[in-house]
Amino acid sequence: MSEPTACSRARSDSCYCSRCDLLVGLDGFHVVEVAELDGRRGLFLRVVVESPPRIEACRECGVVAHSHGRRTVRLVDTPCFGRPVELVWRKRTWRCAEAACPTGSFTEQHEDLARPRALLTARACRWAVAQLRREHASVQGLARQLGTAWRTVWESIKPLLEARAGDETRFAGVTTLGVDEHVWHHVSTKPVEDGGRGPKELTVRMVDLTRDADGMVRARLLDLVPGRSGAAYSQWLRARNEAFRDGVEVATLDPFHGYKNAIDDQLDDAVAVLDAFHVVKLGTHAVDEVRRRVQQEIHGHRGRKHDPLYGIRMILRCGQERLTDKQRARPNGRSWPTSDTTRSTWPGSAPSSSATPTGPRAWPKVDGSPSKFSPHCRPARSPRSSDSARP
Ligand SMILES: [Zn+2]
Ligand SMILES: [Zn+2]
Repeated sequence: MSEPTACSRARSDSCYCSRCDLLVGLDGFHVVEVAELDGRRGLFLRVVVESPPRIEACRECGVVAHSHGRRTVRLVDTPCFGRPVELVWRKRTWRCAEAACPTGSFTEQHEDLARPRALLTARACRWAVAQLRREHASVQGLARQLGTAWRTVWESIKPLLEARAGDETRFAGVTTLGVDEHVWHHVSTKPVEDGGRGPKELTVRMVDLTRDADGMVRARLLDLVPGRSGAAYSQWLRARNEAFRDGVEVATLDPFHGYKNAIDDQLDDAVAVLDAFHVVKLGTHAVDEVRRRVQQEIHGHRGRKHDPLYGIRMILRCGQERLTDKQRARPNGRSWPTSDTTRSTWPGSAPSSSATPTGPRAWPKVDGSPSKFSPHCRPARSPRSSDSARP
């Protein structure tokens, strides 16, 4: 026969196929069978694996145990070639031959593949956590990709996430600490009484704004605690060790006095600075207020569609680098005090640089959220900014 009807390598040196083993990539395991099946959640791959045959000694008495057949365990593995994967592990079981030994039969365990009674393989758990942390995936999205239920994914990764949340090593080396409030909201179509997610909740968000060796800020989210109060921040600082509190040299905050009190109480040596975003926001708001006042003085009414001051409201808030030549020349050819003036007076570049930067600068970015001060032409919203265009 010139064309092989089975995996060619499988028929040569051993009963296992090294190519299939390489593709599946489970160290110490061999692929026995692969099949594509149509399940409740669509097509999926079933990969059957087993460990190579070996002589096993009883863990209690050390006597060579007799083979006691197999026990099949089904696990959810990482998706492969666009399909969910069900990993079937044919676990070897043994029975102790020593009559006086209390050990009856026992089953092989491999924590590298899966923890006892796990539903997901260890690598599927690692993959899911990485997707959540780095790729902004949702648990529901992961469940869809893995071809399983939301609860299966969540119950599997929750202990890992809790262990990481409790790991204090992530607080090491923080010299610049940022704090701000953040609205936490679970989106749900169901009302709360029917099991839907709760209302919006304010949280305090701590961010590591320490510059790296190149003077760049690679902001890292450190923690998120409920409540928008100085007490919540103060309590969080108190819960850290002394080395952390002593290490913080600069503490940035928004213009909220509670945070300032917490910094003064808990971080004796740190310099409290207002963060760039809120300085620019306050400056932009002041420019806006002046524009509204002048509008009222000249016209005696709020901005309307054809009022020149209303027409330039976006230009006033816009960064210089985002303006077109036409926009730059618009307010009677004169230069106007835009938000950019506030921005350029802020020492946002590396501390060693004394030159006033002209182009768009590297503003701190918080992992997972857009730049706090994006150079886009987007006004800083304030509850009282209530211009309305009335044609
Ligand atoms: Zn093969
Ligand atoms: Zn034994």
